[in-house]
Amino acid sequence: MIYGTTDRRIVEAAARLFVEIGCRVMIGEDPAANRSSRQVYAGFDAEALARRAGAELVDMRTAGYRTVPAPLGREFRELSVSRIALEADLIVSVPLMKSHPLTGVTLTLKKYERGAAPAEKKAFHQRNLSQGIADLSTVVHPGLTIVDAIVASDNWVIGGGVRPMGLVVAGADPVATDAVCCHIMQADPYKVDHLRAAAEMGTGEIDLQRIEVLGAKIEGVSAPFTLPADPLKVAAELGNIDVLVGEACSGCLNRLGEVFMTVGKEKLAAAGPLTVVVGKGIAPAAGRTNILMGRCTAAYRDQGIYLADCAPMTPDVIQAIQYAAGEVTQMRYSWDGMEMASD
Ligand code: SF4
Repeated sequence: MIYGTTDRRIVEAAARLFVEIGCRVMIGEDPAANRSSRQVYAGFDAEALARRAGAELVDMRTAGYRTVPAPLGREFRELSVSRIALEADLIVSVPLMKSHPLTGVTLTLKKYERGAAPAEKKAFHQRNLSQGIADLSTVVHPGLTIVDAIVASDNWVIGGGVRPMGLVVAGADPVATDAVCCHIMQADPYKVDHLRAAAEMGTGEIDLQRIEVLGAKIEGVSAPFTLPADPLKVAAELGNIDVLVGEACSGCLNRLGEVFMTVGKEKLAAAGPLTVVVGKGIAPAAGRTNILMGRCTAAYRDQGIYLADCAPMTPDVIQAIQYAAGEVTQMRYSWDGMEMASD
């Protein structure tokens, strides 16, 4: 077992099951931007796993894309989607139960976007990750989700770790399955922006009262996962940092909470007077150093350290704090020079 990724036994068992009933099964994924599928597959001998199950191993990033309309999309009106995902009769998503510093949770909707639309990864992060995930779900989404919570992964970035749960959660509705998992993780599904948006857009059901849950009772298996700190509370305790919040979603607020937890109160207290601006329609503070978090603050981009992404990447926000404190003299953004590895 490799912690932080789906248990291979679940992938193999699911593939085998569909092969046994006569399906042609393809196993594919798309890893983080700076790694190729081949590198990831080699790490756990995925070829042998696929062979044992009678399935084909495919590279979602290099297998080709089609640009398709997303008529219901709120941020993306067309999307470049994996040809394999579009042509499949059934997408089976097998995510790990995981908390996430930006979106709160990483379950099926957050994860399958990686495999189904690898070409949009950068655009999602730069334009609006949560809405991108929800928009994609209106074009293509899993027909079966099997969430691996045998050993879940709790926000290691901000002090979590492995979380043995001994649990598998499965469902045909990806929003309902993710919502049930949120309740298991003691997170509010309505506060997970991509999930709430996907439910509003008709991908599935988010209301637990309207979801039929079979098997174990949620109360019997739930456990609190580590969620990002509330940045407003941290700032109020510190005194030297002000956080100004306009019309903002949870993306930048979660990111800021995660960054505050990562940097630690001691270093934040030493960073000097600083204002962080989050969301649309709120002006930076006069006479102070301002960090402008995310695309929503673009109108004021010349009045502070502007972080353009949606939401900004963690290293970029940390670097902005260091830049404001004079610890670094030049900003270098995470996406600068980052290539999508393909072999
Ligand atoms: S608040 Fe941040 S994450 Fe949310 S839409 Fe604006 S830039 Fe994007």
